[in-house]
Amino acid sequence: MTLAKLDLAAEVDKIFADLGVAADKYKGGTLAVRSPISGTEIGRLPEVTAADAKKAIDAAHEAFLEWRLVPAPKRGELIRLLGEELRSAKAALGRLVSIEVGKVTSEGLGEVQEMIDICDFAVGLSRQLYGLTIATERSEHRMMETWHPLGVIGIISAFNFPVAVWSWNSALAIVCGNSTVWKPSEKTPLTALATQAIFDKALARYIANGGSAPKNLSTLLIGGRDIGEALVDHEKVPLVSATGSTRMGREVGPKLAQRFARSILELGGNNAAIVTPTADLDLTLRGVAFAAMGTAGQRCTTLRRLFVHDSVYDALVPRLAKAYQSVTIGSPLTEGNLVGPLIDRQAFDKMQAALQASKAAGGKVVGGERVLDAEATDAYYVRPAIVEMPRQTDTVKEETFAPILYVMKYSTFDEALALHNDVPQGLSSSIFTNDMREAETFVSARGSDCGIANVNIGPSGAEIGGAFGGEKETGGGRESGSDAWRAYMRRATNTLNYGRTLPLAQGVKFDIE
Ligand code: NAD
Repeated sequence: MTLAKLDLAAEVDKIFADLGVAADKYKGGTLAVRSPISGTEIGRLPEVTAADAKKAIDAAHEAFLEWRLVPAPKRGELIRLLGEELRSAKAALGRLVSIEVGKVTSEGLGEVQEMIDICDFAVGLSRQLYGLTIATERSEHRMMETWHPLGVIGIISAFNFPVAVWSWNSALAIVCGNSTVWKPSEKTPLTALATQAIFDKALARYIANGGSAPKNLSTLLIGGRDIGEALVDHEKVPLVSATGSTRMGREVGPKLAQRFARSILELGGNNAAIVTPTADLDLTLRGVAFAAMGTAGQRCTTLRRLFVHDSVYDALVPRLAKAYQSVTIGSPLTEGNLVGPLIDRQAFDKMQAALQASKAAGGKVVGGERVLDAEATDAYYVRPAIVEMPRQTDTVKEETFAPILYVMKYSTFDEALALHNDVPQGLSSSIFTNDMREAETFVSARGSDCGIANVNIGPSGAEIGGAFGGEKETGGGRESGSDAWRAYMRRATNTLNYGRTLPLAQGVKFDIE
């Protein structure tokens, strides 16, 4: 079937009917959503106003005041049920991710699997929100730290991980005793609506099983940037976790700092890999091709820059270029296609501009051309581009959110490392080597400056067990696993005196008789 003939709107109807979402929630509104697969409209959602958003945040604050009193393991039970509901809805939600964002089927499903995994993690965590008992210098005293919920957690998410990012934040925030308010990307409100419906099912079961939970524990706000701003500006939101471009982070970060609110900023990445003389080239080829072309280059962790040692350059790069020429591009719903569409025309234009600038700077481009435009005039499919660059230019140092891999030669390891770190954005990174000294140096303090540094595996993809992300401009590794939960809580230090005296500073006396 040609792309234009796919009836994606009908599929969306079926998915929402199965999830019990009424048609007026995604039809007849002002926010039009197009599937990048065919370029056709698949929904038109009602949007909230900034005033509605403010009221919703106030209501979420009321929910927090109640939810913080529910014991943490009971809060974990709600997230356990959410994990179960996500398991049953995995096929439907994964399909909707593919339809709304254009991810190939396995990646749409993979995104939902990440949601399930973080639920499992958070359930365990709900019994492990540990504080320390600390040796005190005072006799007959005990000192300890306790962790308390923070308040309303604001979540702003990007189009390319339309549902996983919400779950990384929400599963932790909720077991930690907070309420959440989510502003998804205006390009992906349908998957957000479906996710909220799945959460509501889990909540209904939790309450039916005797659990107690307030209304407005998890709120979804459909709207544009102004709604994100309402979250950022609201004094009752002590933490905003915002995922998106570095431009967005630069606007959001200072505003939060201004009112002393916390931020988790997961921003752009201009990720690189170094291929050294001892690299296993077959493994490297597979790792590089997948990390650079997968999700049509629209992952924050996509591989965008490759530094290849001059002794292996000719053995690797022509093979890589061949792989680029042979990759299957087309509907992400068709099995076997590795590369789906770009999200929209704007992304296509930015890609073409970056390729033009690279050519002008002496780059040799293979690929990059638009394909399948005769089948679907409003969809933007491209052949991934590989660009051999004479040096790391300003264009190479920018994150273009499209499948462009810039390849450059190097001679010494230190030179490669310096080039690797010479970009403002630093999210994820890799080295392909069998030399233990190079591998260890790469992950050491003087090695990669990114929040994720890998050896013999590409930079893209992440497991929820590790703290994900950490773009270097904003600090390293803060979402999902490890001890990321601490960001969603506040620490109190408590000192308890079980003696009969109150030690005062030397020489201080009070006349209390
Ligand atoms: P974007 O910055 O255009 O939008 C992201 C979100 O921020 C949207 O919901 C948008 O409405 C909101 N927003 C934009 N300006 C805002 C403002 N001034 N105040 C409040 N909210 C605002 O990003 P995008 O195009 O949707 O996503 C692609 C970008 O996201 C890429 O740069 C990619 O690397 C990055 N990303 C990073 C991670 C990570 O974990 N580091 C994950 C996914 C995507």
